[in-house]
Amino acid sequence: VAQESDLIRRHFTGLGAARDDVLLGVGDDAAVLRAPDGCELVLTTDSLVEGVHFLPGSDPRSLGHRALAVNLSDCAAMGARPLWALLALTLPVADDDWLREFAAGFAALARAHEVALVGGNLTRGPLNIGVQLTGCVASGAAITRSGGRPGDWLCLTGTVGDAAAGRQPASGTLVNDDHRRFLRHRFEFPTPRVELGMALPGLASACIDISDGVRVDLERLAEASHCGLQIEVERLPLSAALRALHGENAWRLALSGGEDYELAIAVTETRLQPLLNRAAEKDVPCTPVGRLTAQSGAQWLRAGAVLEVSPGGFDHFAT
Ligand SMILES: [Mg+2]
Repeated sequence: VAQESDLIRRHFTGLGAARDDVLLGVGDDAAVLRAPDGCELVLTTDSLVEGVHFLPGSDPRSLGHRALAVNLSDCAAMGARPLWALLALTLPVADDDWLREFAAGFAALARAHEVALVGGNLTRGPLNIGVQLTGCVASGAAITRSGGRPGDWLCLTGTVGDAAAGRQPASGTLVNDDHRRFLRHRFEFPTPRVELGMALPGLASACIDISDGVRVDLERLAEASHCGLQIEVERLPLSAALRALHGENAWRLALSGGEDYELAIAVTETRLQPLLNRAAEKDVPCTPVGRLTAQSGAQWLRAGAVLEVSPGGFDHFAT
């Protein structure tokens, strides 16, 4: 137990941004925080489990980054500003080198988005990384999945499918390939769209982050908004690396892959251009891929034909 509090002091005290709304941070029984005036709090939590979300032996710096990134992405999808994080870490062995790298990955992303780590705990057991993130949004301004209306455009940030392609360890012959490295990096160090997310209140009708795959997450948004959707698969934003390495299968990976941590944003016709302008100001690619429809159900179009989606599998699209 003494060793655990030493480890926490050594690796997790003062991690991330220094914020003056943190009245008491890591080291006591709980954190004490000053809630911002005129705001509502937005809370989310997500965990990474070895063998489920990452392979044994994964780069601890990447795990530190991803554990925070997945929560930042959820916060961004709500239109909220991230503030404070809690970390619950279960480790099989107290490995100082591993902890140093993990903390470095977590801290770099936290500082980039002005997030303070305000508490957590360290337990012995199978590797499991739980992060809880609190953000804030102006009262009444949070974006939800359910605000979409028929006719709204659906836009995707960044590119999709890269993480799915980069998830598999590189095979020997491709280790030095630039495209392979790019895709691997997209999986290991996803870019949560925090700045654009904070700009969405007043612009977006609805938003969701792409964690489980474009198809599943866009259909979730449509269903929550009581709409159908129509998407042209040819419009999906795909990276040059994904196209180069996966050719005909690139769009399948994009639809079914998951772990992109990009945003899917619903926006009215009149707000589409302002959204695209705002994204461009922030250097975030943003691509309209289709629309919400009054007719329920999902239509995924490719070369003008509706794709059939089998309930069993992501790869069972038939043209
Ligand atoms: Mg989400």
